[in-house]
Amino acid sequence: MPAPALRLAITGGIGSGKSTVARLFVNLGAILVDADALSHELTAPGGAAIAPIIEQFGASVLTQDGALDRSAMRTRVFADPQARRTLEHIMHPLVGQLASERGRDAERAGFGCVLYDIPLLAESSGWRRRVDRVLVVDCDPDTQIERVMNRSQLSRTAVEAIIAAQATRERRLHCADCVIDNTHVSLETLAFEVKHLASCFGL
Ligand code: ATP
Repeated sequence: MPAPALRLAITGGIGSGKSTVARLFVNLGAILVDADALSHELTAPGGAAIAPIIEQFGASVLTQDGALDRSAMRTRVFADPQARRTLEHIMHPLVGQLASERGRDAERAGFGCVLYDIPLLAESSGWRRRVDRVLVVDCDPDTQIERVMNRSQLSRTAVEAIIAAQATRERRLHCADCVIDNTHVSLETLAFEVKHLASCFGL
């Protein structure tokens, strides 16, 4: 009987390096369940989130093809905390359920480590008990801002506003079983640290 799979959640603020660390884990044999990708799937035309979204927000929040207009919704929830809570109330359980299904499929397929990339883990209830370990990719805000501005068109003010709307660094660290420091760290050093951590997890 093979050992049960390790269920590892990875989280961190915007631009902290979650996806980079996740890719390194995948290169070492983990399988990734990506909450952002699941959220896209659920809000694509005919996705399971579309009907409850229409019920709460009306059909005007959809694009012509029936997908959630993500950019319009982002603007709306940014300006309206109640709308944000309503959307989270719809999305978090659906993403959690689909992630668990995908994780179970991966375990049945024999993967020894299922890595759940959950950007909003610290903001959502329920994730902690679904996984064995929480890995936080920690990064100082200036580095986050610089990395996000380098890879997108967002202004410093826009990135600062996103950071302010996310869980605080302290709150996130409070959820952590292990932390990877990704401030002032080269990609080579990051890869080395991930390799070391992954070996502690049997990868
Ligand atoms: P998001 O929350 O927006 O999905 P993320 O936390 O997944 O972001 P990444 O996409 O992994 O972050 O990294 C953000 C950017 O910073 C990417 O362009 C990535 O290549 C770069 N990056 C990450 N870590 C480092 C590092 N140690 N040195 C240099 N660049 C880095």
